[in-house]
Amino acid sequence: MTAKDGAREKMKSIEPLLIDLSHRIHSTPELGFEEEKASVWLSEMLDDAGFEVTKGVAGLPTAFVARAGSGPLHIGICAEYDCLPGIGHACGHNIIGASSVGAGIATAAIADELGLTVTVLGTPAEEVGNASGKIVMLEHGLFKGLHASMMVHPAPFDMAVMNLIAAAMFVVFYTGREAHASAFPAMGINPADSLTVAQVSLGLLRQHIRQTDRIHGFTTKGGDAPNIVPAHTSARYIIRSQTIEELDQLRGKVHRCFEAGAVATGSKCEIKGGDKPYAQMAHDLEMAALYRRNAEELGRVFPNLGPAVERFAASTDMGNVSQAVPSIHPAIGIDSMPAANHTPEFTAHCIKPAADKALFDGALAMAWTIADIATNESIRARLLSAPGAAA
Ligand SMILES: [Zn+2]
Ligand SMILES: [Zn+2]
Repeated sequence: MTAKDGAREKMKSIEPLLIDLSHRIHSTPELGFEEEKASVWLSEMLDDAGFEVTKGVAGLPTAFVARAGSGPLHIGICAEYDCLPGIGHACGHNIIGASSVGAGIATAAIADELGLTVTVLGTPAEEVGNASGKIVMLEHGLFKGLHASMMVHPAPFDMAVMNLIAAAMFVVFYTGREAHASAFPAMGINPADSLTVAQVSLGLLRQHIRQTDRIHGFTTKGGDAPNIVPAHTSARYIIRSQTIEELDQLRGKVHRCFEAGAVATGSKCEIKGGDKPYAQMAHDLEMAALYRRNAEELGRVFPNLGPAVERFAASTDMGNVSQAVPSIHPAIGIDSMPAANHTPEFTAHCIKPAADKALFDGALAMAWTIADIATNESIRARLLSAPGAAA
């Protein structure tokens, strides 16, 4: 029996457990850094499979690492398991959590044979947009010693290489002064007007930014009653650019728009967050090609999407990992069209048979890709000697 057959057999034997795990996480959605149940369920399954599990790493109660094997080539598999506010598992992180655990267990079964160590990293709070799980875990050195890392992400269709760009999430607070909006409006300083000025400025700024830049957000507090000039307003925004360097340039321009709102009204402006942004994904194209071939071997199809994905760009803290360790982050289709990520319709798709199949295929394609990496002399040598090895 080949190593790949061994991985497939292992995956088959744990498939019902993985589907149950995915569905359980889906029906118990937990927000970033609050994934108490999911992190326990995932690490328990790894513990049962003989992994050495350490919970609460990097000072994050819902982060964990689970290690198996003792070979020289050390591969990391990232699990995500946080949900989105209000719409549950609309990004399919229940599938990611289960498929990464499955890939870890299937790889562990062939680790000795292939000279591998495999670590599943439980990485919380991918959706929070700033100072997220992987960023904090990178700061704590938890990706040190890895030669490669990977995960697969649910999407409407399969993509070996996704356009994943840099992003920063921040919150803007304006402080003014209350007044009776009709009787004594001259006594007020109106921070709701500050937001209006900022949003107009941002609208004008859109003419002067790169086509690849993005600015999106909304007011989170606009006031309490129309007959009170509010003292406090706030908004939450995300900005994105192709690279961290371009993001830094965009950030300055966007911040000035918010400052303009304070200047115009005399309110005070405070911006919090955005200090630990998501980096762009540096795809390891050789590994991505291996993944694609393995996924195709399992019958998966990578459609030629053309203009349909011309504007497609998302962001992930896996980008930060990829800047330190050679990494891949393919998309795995769950046959959800026209529903796409971050909608309640996509949430509903994340436990359908196509989602369960994506879980299985994604996990096995990862395990097979790891088997290829371990047995291909030139890739193995490159990864063992890569600068990322000491990241
Ligand atoms: Zn998402
Ligand atoms: Zn996601």
